[in-house]
Amino acid sequence: MAELMDGKALAKEVKRALKQEVAQLIEQGVTPGLAVVLVGEDPASAVYVRSKTRTCKRLGLAHFDHVLPAETGQAQLMALVDELNADTRVHGILVQLPLPNTIDEATVLERIDPRKDVDGFHPENLGRLMIGEPRFVPCTPAGVMRLLDAGNVDYVGKHAVVVGRSRIVGKPVAQLLLARHCTVTMAHSRTRDLDEVVRSADIVVAAVGRAELVKGDWIKPGAAVVDVGINRVGEKLVGDVAFEAAAERAALITPVPGGVGPMTIAMLMENTVSAAKLTLG
Ligand code: NDP
Repeated sequence: MAELMDGKALAKEVKRALKQEVAQLIEQGVTPGLAVVLVGEDPASAVYVRSKTRTCKRLGLAHFDHVLPAETGQAQLMALVDELNADTRVHGILVQLPLPNTIDEATVLERIDPRKDVDGFHPENLGRLMIGEPRFVPCTPAGVMRLLDAGNVDYVGKHAVVVGRSRIVGKPVAQLLLARHCTVTMAHSRTRDLDEVVRSADIVVAAVGRAELVKGDWIKPGAAVVDVGINRVGEKLVGDVAFEAAAERAALITPVPGGVGPMTIAMLMENTVSAAKLTLG
Protein backbone atom coordinates (compact mmCIF):
# COMPACT_ATOMS: atom_id res chain seq x y z
CA MET A 1 0.00 0.00 0.00
CA ALA A 2 1.35 3.42 -0.99
CA GLU A 3 2.48 6.05 1.44
CA LEU A 4 0.43 9.25 1.24
CA MET A 5 2.07 12.49 0.16
CA ASP A 6 0.09 14.68 2.54
CA GLY A 7 -0.27 18.12 0.95
CA LYS A 8 -2.26 19.51 3.83
CA ALA A 9 0.46 18.75 6.36
CA LEU A 10 3.28 19.90 4.08
CA ALA A 11 1.45 23.14 3.25
CA LYS A 12 1.04 23.80 6.98
CA GLU A 13 4.79 23.39 7.46
CA VAL A 14 5.58 25.74 4.55
CA LYS A 15 3.14 28.33 5.88
CA ARG A 16 4.58 28.13 9.40
CA ALA A 17 8.04 28.98 8.05
CA LEU A 18 6.60 31.74 5.83
CA LYS A 19 4.82 33.36 8.75
CA GLN A 20 8.17 33.85 10.49
CA GLU A 21 9.73 35.19 7.32
CA VAL A 22 6.86 37.66 6.88
CA ALA A 23 7.33 38.87 10.47
CA GLN A 24 11.05 39.46 9.76
CA LEU A 25 10.27 41.37 6.56
CA ILE A 26 7.77 43.53 8.43
CA GLU A 27 10.51 44.36 10.95
CA GLN A 28 12.64 45.48 8.01
CA GLY A 29 9.82 47.76 6.89
CA VAL A 30 8.35 45.64 4.09
CA THR A 31 4.91 44.05 4.42
CA PRO A 32 4.51 41.58 1.54
CA GLY A 33 1.30 42.46 -0.29
CA LEU A 34 -0.83 40.40 -2.67
CA ALA A 35 -3.48 41.88 -4.96
CA VAL A 36 -6.14 39.44 -6.13
CA VAL A 37 -8.40 40.39 -9.01
CA LEU A 38 -11.63 38.49 -9.58
CA VAL A 39 -13.84 39.28 -12.55
CA GLY A 40 -17.37 37.90 -12.51
CA GLU A 41 -19.11 35.48 -10.23
CA ASP A 42 -17.72 32.04 -11.01
CA PRO A 43 -18.46 30.23 -7.73
CA ALA A 44 -15.29 28.07 -7.79
CA SER A 45 -13.13 31.15 -8.44
CA ALA A 46 -14.82 32.99 -5.58
CA VAL A 47 -13.96 30.07 -3.25
CA TYR A 48 -10.29 30.14 -4.36
CA VAL A 49 -10.08 33.90 -3.89
CA ARG A 50 -11.57 33.71 -0.39
CA SER A 51 -9.13 31.04 0.60
CA LYS A 52 -6.17 33.08 -0.74
CA THR A 53 -7.34 36.13 1.22
CA ARG A 54 -7.76 34.07 4.39
CA THR A 55 -4.25 32.65 4.04
CA CYS A 56 -2.78 36.14 3.52
CA LYS A 57 -4.44 37.26 6.75
CA ARG A 58 -3.14 34.27 8.69
CA LEU A 59 0.44 34.78 7.53
CA GLY A 60 0.45 38.55 8.05
CA LEU A 61 0.55 39.55 4.38
CA ALA A 62 -1.32 42.61 3.20
CA HIS A 63 -4.04 41.78 0.69
CA PHE A 64 -5.82 43.95 -1.80
CA ASP A 65 -8.96 42.39 -3.19
CA HIS A 66 -10.56 43.68 -6.37
CA VAL A 67 -13.88 42.09 -7.25
CA LEU A 68 -15.16 43.37 -10.58
CA PRO A 69 -18.49 42.68 -12.31
CA ALA A 70 -18.65 40.17 -15.17
CA GLU A 71 -19.33 43.05 -17.63
CA THR A 72 -15.91 44.61 -16.92
CA GLY A 73 -14.23 45.53 -20.19
CA GLN A 74 -10.69 44.68 -21.24
CA ALA A 75 -9.56 48.33 -21.02
CA GLN A 76 -10.86 48.69 -17.49
CA LEU A 77 -9.11 45.52 -16.36
CA MET A 78 -5.85 46.58 -18.03
CA ALA A 79 -6.09 49.95 -16.25
CA LEU A 80 -6.44 48.17 -12.91
CA VAL A 81 -3.40 45.99 -13.69
CA ASP A 82 -1.41 49.16 -14.54
CA GLU A 83 -2.47 50.67 -11.23
CA LEU A 84 -1.38 47.57 -9.31
CA ASN A 85 1.91 47.42 -11.23
CA ALA A 86 2.64 50.97 -10.00
CA ASP A 87 1.48 50.43 -6.40
CA THR A 88 4.54 49.87 -4.19
CA ARG A 89 2.43 48.18 -1.48
CA VAL A 90 1.59 45.42 -3.96
CA HIS A 91 4.36 42.85 -4.48
CA GLY A 92 2.29 40.16 -6.14
CA ILE A 93 -0.62 40.39 -8.58
CA LEU A 94 -2.92 37.51 -9.26
CA VAL A 95 -5.69 37.69 -11.82
CA GLN A 96 -8.00 34.78 -11.09
CA LEU A 97 -8.63 32.59 -14.13
CA PRO A 98 -10.77 31.87 -16.04
CA LEU A 99 -11.69 35.39 -17.16
CA PRO A 100 -15.02 36.03 -18.91
CA ASN A 101 -14.95 35.22 -22.66
CA THR A 102 -15.11 38.90 -23.54
CA ILE A 103 -11.60 39.43 -22.17
CA ASP A 104 -8.40 38.22 -23.80
CA GLU A 105 -6.64 36.33 -21.03
CA ALA A 106 -3.17 36.32 -22.59
CA THR A 107 -3.13 40.10 -23.11
CA VAL A 108 -4.07 40.69 -19.48
CA LEU A 109 -1.48 38.25 -18.12
CA GLU A 110 1.23 39.86 -20.26
CA ARG A 111 0.37 43.28 -18.85
CA ILE A 112 1.32 42.19 -15.30
CA ASP A 113 4.80 43.36 -14.29
CA PRO A 114 6.85 40.11 -14.52
CA ARG A 115 8.44 40.98 -11.16
CA LYS A 116 4.96 40.93 -9.60
CA ASP A 117 3.72 37.90 -11.54
CA VAL A 118 3.42 35.53 -8.57
CA ASP A 119 1.30 33.10 -10.58
CA GLY A 120 4.28 32.68 -12.91
CA PHE A 121 2.16 32.78 -16.09
CA HIS A 122 3.84 35.76 -17.76
CA PRO A 123 5.77 34.66 -20.88
CA GLU A 124 8.96 36.12 -19.38
CA ASN A 125 8.64 33.94 -16.29
CA LEU A 126 7.66 30.85 -18.29
CA GLY A 127 10.64 31.53 -20.58
CA ARG A 128 12.97 31.84 -17.60
CA LEU A 129 11.70 28.48 -16.35
CA MET A 130 12.40 26.98 -19.77
CA ILE A 131 16.03 28.21 -19.79
CA GLY A 132 16.61 26.98 -16.25
CA GLU A 133 16.65 30.39 -14.56
CA PRO A 134 13.27 30.45 -12.86
CA ARG A 135 12.00 33.54 -11.07
CA PHE A 136 8.41 32.67 -10.17
CA VAL A 137 7.48 29.05 -10.77
CA PRO A 138 3.72 28.59 -11.34
CA CYS A 139 2.17 27.60 -8.02
CA THR A 140 0.62 24.23 -8.81
CA PRO A 141 3.74 22.85 -10.55
CA ALA A 142 5.89 24.18 -7.69
CA GLY A 143 3.58 22.38 -5.25
CA VAL A 144 3.85 19.14 -7.23
CA MET A 145 7.64 19.27 -7.02
CA ARG A 146 7.64 20.13 -3.32
CA LEU A 147 5.48 17.05 -2.63
CA LEU A 148 7.81 14.79 -4.63
CA ASP A 149 10.87 16.33 -2.92
CA ALA A 150 9.30 15.72 0.50
CA GLY A 151 8.75 12.09 -0.50
CA ASN A 152 12.51 11.83 -1.28
CA VAL A 153 11.74 10.73 -4.81
CA ASP A 154 14.74 9.73 -6.85
CA TYR A 155 14.61 11.71 -10.11
CA VAL A 156 17.87 11.16 -11.96
CA GLY A 157 17.35 9.08 -15.09
CA LYS A 158 13.83 8.09 -14.05
CA HIS A 159 10.96 8.10 -16.51
CA ALA A 160 8.39 10.76 -15.63
CA VAL A 161 5.09 10.86 -17.48
CA VAL A 162 3.07 14.06 -17.28
CA VAL A 163 -0.48 13.62 -18.52
CA GLY A 164 -1.81 17.03 -19.63
CA ARG A 165 0.07 19.82 -21.40
CA SER A 166 -1.59 23.01 -20.18
CA ARG A 167 0.40 26.19 -19.83
CA ILE A 168 -0.44 26.41 -16.11
CA VAL A 169 0.24 22.82 -15.03
CA GLY A 170 1.48 20.17 -17.49
CA LYS A 171 4.14 22.14 -19.38
CA PRO A 172 5.80 23.76 -16.34
CA VAL A 173 5.76 20.44 -14.42
CA ALA A 174 7.51 18.74 -17.34
CA GLN A 175 10.21 21.46 -17.36
CA LEU A 176 10.76 21.09 -13.63
CA LEU A 177 11.09 17.30 -13.89
CA LEU A 178 13.50 17.71 -16.78
CA ALA A 179 15.59 20.09 -14.65
CA ARG A 180 15.78 17.29 -12.05
CA HIS A 181 17.21 15.02 -14.78
CA CYS A 182 14.14 12.87 -15.37
CA THR A 183 13.44 11.52 -18.84
CA VAL A 184 10.12 13.21 -19.44
CA THR A 185 7.18 12.17 -21.60
CA MET A 186 4.33 14.61 -22.03
CA ALA A 187 1.05 12.92 -22.82
CA HIS A 188 -2.15 14.63 -23.97
CA SER A 189 -5.48 13.97 -25.64
CA ARG A 190 -3.85 12.75 -28.88
CA THR A 191 -1.37 10.39 -27.20
CA ARG A 192 -1.72 6.83 -28.46
CA ASP A 193 -1.82 3.94 -26.00
CA LEU A 194 -1.81 6.19 -22.95
CA ASP A 195 -2.11 3.16 -20.67
CA GLU A 196 1.17 1.73 -22.03
CA VAL A 197 2.92 5.08 -21.72
CA VAL A 198 1.86 5.44 -18.09
CA ARG A 199 2.82 1.82 -17.32
CA SER A 200 6.46 2.66 -18.01
CA ALA A 201 6.52 5.65 -15.63
CA ASP A 202 8.47 5.83 -12.38
CA ILE A 203 6.78 9.17 -11.72
CA VAL A 204 3.27 10.00 -12.90
CA VAL A 205 1.76 13.47 -12.77
CA ALA A 206 -1.87 13.56 -13.87
CA ALA A 207 -3.25 17.00 -14.77
CA VAL A 208 -6.13 16.35 -17.11
CA GLY A 209 -9.47 17.14 -15.52
CA ARG A 210 -11.11 13.75 -16.25
CA ALA A 211 -12.29 11.80 -13.23
CA GLU A 212 -10.17 8.68 -12.65
CA LEU A 213 -8.83 8.58 -16.20
CA VAL A 214 -5.61 6.94 -15.00
CA LYS A 215 -6.48 3.42 -13.88
CA GLY A 216 -4.87 1.58 -11.01
CA ASP A 217 -3.42 -1.16 -13.21
CA TRP A 218 -1.61 1.47 -15.33
CA ILE A 219 0.63 2.26 -12.36
CA LYS A 220 4.06 0.62 -12.30
CA PRO A 221 4.65 -1.01 -8.91
CA GLY A 222 6.71 1.38 -6.77
CA ALA A 223 5.91 4.52 -8.80
CA ALA A 224 5.28 7.98 -7.32
CA VAL A 225 1.90 9.35 -8.36
CA VAL A 226 0.83 12.98 -8.11
CA ASP A 227 -2.80 13.69 -8.91
CA VAL A 228 -3.47 17.32 -9.80
CA GLY A 229 -7.02 16.78 -11.05
CA ILE A 230 -10.04 18.10 -9.25
CA ASN A 231 -13.31 16.68 -10.56
CA ARG A 232 -16.69 16.93 -8.96
CA VAL A 233 -18.59 13.65 -9.16
CA GLY A 234 -21.93 14.08 -7.45
CA GLU A 235 -21.10 15.41 -3.99
CA LYS A 236 -17.55 14.06 -4.09
CA LEU A 237 -14.27 15.51 -5.32
CA VAL A 238 -12.12 12.98 -7.15
CA GLY A 239 -8.82 13.21 -8.94
CA ASP A 240 -7.63 12.11 -12.38
CA VAL A 241 -6.28 8.87 -10.90
CA ALA A 242 -8.36 5.95 -9.64
CA PHE A 243 -6.96 6.40 -6.15
CA GLU A 244 -7.82 3.15 -4.35
CA ALA A 245 -6.50 0.84 -7.07
CA ALA A 246 -3.45 3.03 -7.80
CA ALA A 247 -2.53 3.14 -4.10
CA GLU A 248 -2.30 -0.68 -4.16
CA ARG A 249 0.65 -0.45 -6.57
CA ALA A 250 2.31 2.95 -6.06
CA ALA A 251 5.00 3.64 -3.45
CA LEU A 252 3.81 7.23 -3.00
CA ILE A 253 0.54 8.89 -3.94
CA THR A 254 -1.28 12.17 -3.31
CA PRO A 255 -4.89 12.17 -2.14
CA VAL A 256 -7.62 14.35 -3.67
CA PRO A 257 -8.52 16.52 -1.86
CA GLY A 258 -5.61 17.22 0.49
CA GLY A 259 -2.73 16.71 -1.95
CA VAL A 260 -1.76 19.29 -4.55
CA GLY A 261 -4.60 21.74 -3.75
CA PRO A 262 -3.30 23.02 -0.39
CA MET A 263 0.26 23.20 -1.78
CA THR A 264 -0.86 25.52 -4.57
CA ILE A 265 -1.91 28.23 -2.11
CA ALA A 266 1.22 27.73 0.01
CA MET A 267 3.39 28.23 -3.10
CA LEU A 268 1.46 31.39 -4.00
CA MET A 269 2.28 32.78 -0.58
CA GLU A 270 5.91 31.77 -1.00
CA ASN A 271 6.09 33.50 -4.39
CA THR A 272 4.57 36.65 -2.90
CA VAL A 273 7.13 36.69 -0.10
CA SER A 274 9.90 36.20 -2.71
CA ALA A 275 8.46 39.10 -4.73
CA ALA A 276 8.61 41.30 -1.64
CA LYS A 277 12.22 40.25 -1.08
CA LEU A 278 13.04 41.24 -4.68
CA THR A 279 12.23 44.83 -3.71
CA LEU A 280 14.87 44.64 -0.96
CA GLY A 281 17.43 43.82 -3.65
P1 NDP B 1 -6.61 21.95 -19.16
O1 NDP B 1 -8.02 21.63 -19.51
O2 NDP B 1 -6.05 23.27 -19.50
O3 NDP B 1 -5.67 20.83 -19.80
C1 NDP B 1 -6.02 19.48 -19.76
C2 NDP B 1 -4.96 18.67 -20.46
O4 NDP B 1 -5.36 17.31 -20.40
C3 NDP B 1 -4.79 19.03 -21.94
O5 NDP B 1 -3.43 19.09 -22.24
C4 NDP B 1 -5.48 17.89 -22.67
O6 NDP B 1 -4.88 17.53 -23.90
C5 NDP B 1 -5.28 16.74 -21.71
N1 NDP B 1 -6.30 15.72 -21.90
C6 NDP B 1 -7.65 15.89 -21.99
N2 NDP B 1 -8.27 14.70 -22.14
C7 NDP B 1 -7.29 13.77 -22.18
C8 NDP B 1 -7.30 12.36 -22.32
N3 NDP B 1 -8.44 11.68 -22.47
N4 NDP B 1 -6.13 11.72 -22.32
C9 NDP B 1 -4.97 12.39 -22.16
N5 NDP B 1 -4.90 13.73 -21.99
C10 NDP B 1 -6.05 14.41 -22.01
O7 NDP B 1 -6.52 21.65 -17.60
P2 NDP B 1 -5.54 22.22 -16.44
O8 NDP B 1 -4.14 21.83 -16.73
O9 NDP B 1 -5.85 23.62 -16.18
O10 NDP B 1 -6.07 21.38 -15.20
C11 NDP B 1 -6.03 19.98 -15.17
C12 NDP B 1 -6.72 19.49 -13.91
O11 NDP B 1 -6.02 19.99 -12.77
C13 NDP B 1 -8.16 19.97 -13.72
O12 NDP B 1 -8.89 18.97 -13.06
C14 NDP B 1 -8.03 21.17 -12.81
O13 NDP B 1 -9.20 21.40 -12.04
C15 NDP B 1 -6.89 20.71 -11.93
N6 NDP B 1 -6.13 21.81 -11.33
C16 NDP B 1 -5.86 21.70 -10.01
C17 NDP B 1 -5.14 22.67 -9.36
C18 NDP B 1 -4.83 22.49 -7.93
O14 NDP B 1 -4.47 23.45 -7.28
N7 NDP B 1 -4.92 21.29 -7.39
C19 NDP B 1 -4.67 23.87 -10.07
C20 NDP B 1 -4.92 23.84 -11.50
C21 NDP B 1 -5.64 22.84 -12.09
P3 NDP B 1 -4.87 18.52 -25.19
O15 NDP B 1 -3.82 19.54 -24.89
O16 NDP B 1 -4.51 17.61 -26.28
O17 NDP B 1 -6.24 19.10 -25.28
